[in-house]
Amino acid sequence: MSKILIAEDDLITSKIIERHLREWGYRVFLEKNGEDAWRTLEQENIQIALLDWMMPKMDGLQLCRRVRAVRSDPYTYLILLTARASTADIVEGLNAGADDYITKPVEPAELRARLMTGIRIIELENRNKRLQKKLEKLAREDSLTGFLNKKNIQERLEEELSRGRRENRPVSAVLLDIDNFKLINDTHGHSVGDQVILEIASRLRGSIRRHDHIGRFGGDEILVLLWHAATEPLRIVAERLCRCVSQEPIPTDAGPLQVTVSVGGASSEEHLDIPAQDLIKVSDQALYDAKHRGRNRVEIREILE
Ligand code: GH3
Ligand code: MG
Repeated sequence: MSKILIAEDDLITSKIIERHLREWGYRVFLEKNGEDAWRTLEQENIQIALLDWMMPKMDGLQLCRRVRAVRSDPYTYLILLTARASTADIVEGLNAGADDYITKPVEPAELRARLMTGIRIIELENRNKRLQKKLEKLAREDSLTGFLNKKNIQERLEEELSRGRRENRPVSAVLLDIDNFKLINDTHGHSVGDQVILEIASRLRGSIRRHDHIGRFGGDEILVLLWHAATEPLRIVAERLCRCVSQEPIPTDAGPLQVTVSVGGASSEEHLDIPAQDLIKVSDQALYDAKHRGRNRVEIREILE
């Protein structure tokens, strides 16, 4: 049910409008001055308001200016109620930030039609906001796993490394790659491959701390960032991540599959000023070592000068 605020100091006018609004199914809030109206708008998160031009404490025009100056989200549709109807007055009202105006005495049919316009605008505005949020999420996340995508996990690593430099704390990168994943795809099909990625993603998420970051770095590669982790904790976590994949077969539509990952890690412990790209590069070399030495294992590489 849409909430509407009526800010009107004239009791008779506000009662008449209130009665109509309730009949039409709106949830109505009544205030008698501009300051109380402002508070109610904020507290009740109201998106449509009928504001009397002349009110005590803060008049309708001042209230319009205030709403436009400090309350852009959510959008508030403002209709001025006024006995003034000269062109100059209307221009002044619209310039103050009102979306529309109704002259008093209020005609019920006109009031209803103007409210419908307001509701259309608010619904469009709200739909746009939802869409924008969805797009931002899509741009940030990998669609299969919901993890950060490559660009975002790289940016996160840069942020974590600069925080680490300020606070004199290390950050570790763990790069995981599914072993012989191409064979799984080739044998059982791409959708079974996707199920494997999803299950591994879920196991990895469940094996790290909430504030450690995780991102899909490539097709079958996942990058985990461990905040505050020096080389020893890095080794322990990397082993845990490796084991959480191999210790139980992964249920898929093709039956349970025994899958393993190879893991490479590096920590900024001795080199807090290492650039993100270089930390990833060293982890990737460690991952290469792990593949080379037989897969399903962890290798940690020291950062060389
Ligand atoms: P290795 O042990 O050396 O890593 O062998 P591999 O077979 O895993 O080698 P490679 O990294 O070359 O293969 C990765 C495969 O992952 C190739 C690609 O088709 C597949 N892949 C990438 N993204 C996806 C995806 O989203 N879903 C599925 N099912 N497969 C994917
Ligand atoms: Mg692979």
